[in-house]
Amino acid sequence: MKPDPIVGRGTTLHQWQNSRHLAELDSIDILSLVPPGSRAVVIAPHPDDEVLGCGGLLQLLATAGRALQLISVTDGSASHPGSARWPVERLSVVRPQESAEALRRLGLPMHRVKWLRGGFPDTQVAAREAELSEFIARYLQPGDVLFTTWCEDGHCDHEAVGRASLEAARRTGLVCHELPVWTWHWASPEDASVPWQRARKICLTPAQVARKRHAVHAFASQLEGDPDAGLSPVLAPWVLDRLLQPFEVVFL
Ligand SMILES: [Zn+2]
Repeated sequence: MKPDPIVGRGTTLHQWQNSRHLAELDSIDILSLVPPGSRAVVIAPHPDDEVLGCGGLLQLLATAGRALQLISVTDGSASHPGSARWPVERLSVVRPQESAEALRRLGLPMHRVKWLRGGFPDTQVAAREAELSEFIARYLQPGDVLFTTWCEDGHCDHEAVGRASLEAARRTGLVCHELPVWTWHWASPEDASVPWQRARKICLTPAQVARKRHAVHAFASQLEGDPDAGLSPVLAPWVLDRLLQPFEVVFL
């Protein structure tokens, strides 16, 4: 097993702001990636990844009238191991509710986005990767464009969901784009392991970033740790800073 790269505070927003690679990225119109008549299918490992990775992109697609399908692979119930304040039973109920509220805050109420919950076990997706790939493929339609976490994002579930989504796309002849989420934490600004040549920026307006910020704050469980269990918040302020830049990145 490789060492967990998501430790400490990670790369700072300031460091990313000085990244030559990031500054030189070409931007792309998300509507050209999801042409009229196509559906965007976002495959999120945990309830919050759909907003952290592509809360801006979802707003742009919704405004343009594109059909949206969200697949939440796990219920995120392993975010607070050993916590009496946030036991598995509570998280498995609360985290999907937080996603629903976050989508509403993005301007995507439940009737606007189709939502499918996979019920795969949080932190254990890799053990059921083939099953997940089949599950995803079953819900795909011709013309769908998939968005998922990068298969080298540094979190075991993000990577397994990335691989399973790519496999489902391959089998159905569809296109799948990957999104960095935890990459912003562990990668260095000029990191050669990041596929910069495949990376494109989706530019967001200040209003879109503000909506995304408001949506992120629906994930109360992730903004709160549990000192009694020695847990700090998953979404600490410096984590959010990196994820609320005036753009999102997709790997084509
Ligand atoms: Zn996640």
